Amino acid sequence: MTVWIGLTGGIGSGKSSVAARFFKLGVPHIDADAVSRSLTADGGKALPLIRAAFGVGMFDSEGRLNRAALRDEVFRRPQSKKTLESIMFPLILEEIGVKQTQYPQAVYGIVDVPLLIEQPQFSALVKRVLVIDVAETVQIRRVQQRSGLGESEIRSIMATQASRRDRLLYADDVLSNEGSEAELAEKISRLHNFYRHVLKLNAV
Ligand code: ADP
Repeated sequence: MTVWIGLTGGIGSGKSSVAARFFKLGVPHIDADAVSRSLTADGGKALPLIRAAFGVGMFDSEGRLNRAALRDEVFRRPQSKKTLESIMFPLILEEIGVKQTQYPQAVYGIVDVPLLIEQPQFSALVKRVLVIDVAETVQIRRVQQRSGLGESEIRSIMATQASRRDRLLYADDVLSNEGSEAELAEKISRLHNFYRHVLKLNAV
């Protein structure tokens, strides 16, 4: 049976870079954010539930979800955030569960769940947790370089995420990504060998 590893880390820690490298090694990869986006894309399963909870005001004249309006609504009202999560989380869990059945030959696979620590219900999907770890200063520098966001904006996103300490408490495996891209590639290749061989024996 495929062992699913939950990949998580704060913004800018390198989750996408790590996931892309595992994918290149042929490891199945399920991206919870992509699943969430597909559920709210045109014809997505979440749309009727969002319409029932938030009204047609969240949709344009062609029935497309107005993501900016919904983001604004959940940002301003904690209760709306809870309502949206109560719609989205069960659907995301279900969809990831379906995708996990599609790789019967794989020894292991990666489920990329940015909020794995913050939303513990997602931990039911995985057997181990792999945390990508960098110092906050590195997070900020890399996000600035990637997106041009200001430091205070980045810090306010980080404030909504689990702390570095909490993430590390939760980790089965920690991949420190403070070094170069080449070092990251080397570490992933070693971790891949560990997962392939050790998880195959079902020893962990
Ligand atoms: P996340 O998905 O966790 O937000 P990303 O994988 O997008 O993080 O990485 C954030 C930025 O840092 C990206 O621009 C990425 O190319 C860069 N990056 C990731 N790892 C390294 C590294 N080891 N050295 C230098 N830059 C890196």
